[in-house]
Amino acid sequence: MAASRSARLTGIAGVVWSWLFVRRKARKRPCIKPGHQIRSKHQSRANCNIYITTELRPCTSYFTMPLKQISNYPELYKTCMTYPAIDNHAHPLLKIEHRNDMAYENIWSDADSQSPALCDSVHTLACYKATAQLASVLGMPSNINDLTWEQVRAAARGMDYDELCKACFGSARIQCVLFDDGLGGVSELAEGYRWHDRYTTSPNKRIVRIEVVAEDILVRIVQALKPSVKMASEEILEKFDTMFNAAISAALDDLEVVAFKSIACYRTGLDISPADPLSSIISALEDAVATIERHGTIRLASKAFNDHFVRLTLRVATKPVQFHTGLGDPSLLLSTATPSLMQPIIRAYPDATFVLLHASYPFTREAGYLVAMYKNVYLDFGEIFPQVSAEGQRGVIRQLLELCPTNKIMWSTDGHWMPETFALGSLQARDAIFAVLSETVQMGDLSEKRAMEIVKNMLFGNANRVYVLHLQPILPR
Ligand SMILES: [Zn+2]
Repeated sequence: MAASRSARLTGIAGVVWSWLFVRRKARKRPCIKPGHQIRSKHQSRANCNIYITTELRPCTSYFTMPLKQISNYPELYKTCMTYPAIDNHAHPLLKIEHRNDMAYENIWSDADSQSPALCDSVHTLACYKATAQLASVLGMPSNINDLTWEQVRAAARGMDYDELCKACFGSARIQCVLFDDGLGGVSELAEGYRWHDRYTTSPNKRIVRIEVVAEDILVRIVQALKPSVKMASEEILEKFDTMFNAAISAALDDLEVVAFKSIACYRTGLDISPADPLSSIISALEDAVATIERHGTIRLASKAFNDHFVRLTLRVATKPVQFHTGLGDPSLLLSTATPSLMQPIIRAYPDATFVLLHASYPFTREAGYLVAMYKNVYLDFGEIFPQVSAEGQRGVIRQLLELCPTNKIMWSTDGHWMPETFALGSLQARDAIFAVLSETVQMGDLSEKRAMEIVKNMLFGNANRVYVLHLQPILPR
């Protein structure tokens, strides 16, 4: 069931778009000078995502680009703010009974919830912007820049969960989400991927995380071993390969699954070997089996074995394989999180489609180089919204546009647990894309018409093609 959509524009896009609309209709409205802002006023909590433009005040608000830029390129602005988007990488939302289980600061930071680093994250520009923007999305009082993140958290947690989700997704204008449901804790705490259909205008799809598949299979094999019969490691590997290949084949046949994902970056690094001697794979497998025998479970991080099942996937995958790169939580090693380490594996599998996630931040230029040089490499630019400052986001978009063909860039939220991550992921990306492209048009490097085509492809067309979704954009009425 898809959510019913209000014909009225909502959120920040709504504020400014309604201004543009009003401005066209009535030219007698006050002249807006650069450095001035539109203030919005919400009606009531019940319809808090409906905004009416009421007054103009000096710039104190949450917009990042001068209004002059908006009025110079209204069509480009409209496209950036309202064109439907395919979110090509995200994770499910918490079930209502778990809605407050995660630290609110995890909206803008992946630091560990027990770490003082997470406390420090509330002093980042990313947190300040997220706070003001969420206050707007939630329809809080108009002095949004004076509100604290704790006040925003209290308002969000005080809202009916469905209303909160509607406010966030209503602002985000996401038509379809591709959900990686292999994130730890999802099966216990979060909703299934199709549950989210109520907030999008097209049915959502699934991404299969291969480390979860491998762990599940290996645990089942080890648990089925009889203590009295010693199975040779070669035999265990053969059994694993058969079952893993069958699972990948089943996912390839499943129309609900549109991609695979690997978190090699978190486990053993992105220097995935194109080939390993059998003895190394067996030795790594034996370490993994011993861990399962001891603990009954495993977080697979045996390099030669992990690299082995990544290769098994790449050998047959006719659907894209996403790789976590760059920006992530403290459990990854930054030195092995750069996509430049993937060049040998990319060369070894020219028929596999690699999607480098999260703009590979801070290794965006390295990612851009790979995307430009290899036909089978694409770049996602998610997670930097809202984790990086607004200026940083614009910088990332500028960097990826330095070299990347614009038909190989895809947007995502990396939304997870809380609906606010989807709202911020979309609003901030739309802001940043407009800021960068309008500037490029202004410099005379691009026509406004071509810039609009690029936006449509970055938000929708490229993902629709790469993941073979066969969607038609459902345009705002
Ligand atoms: Zn993710």
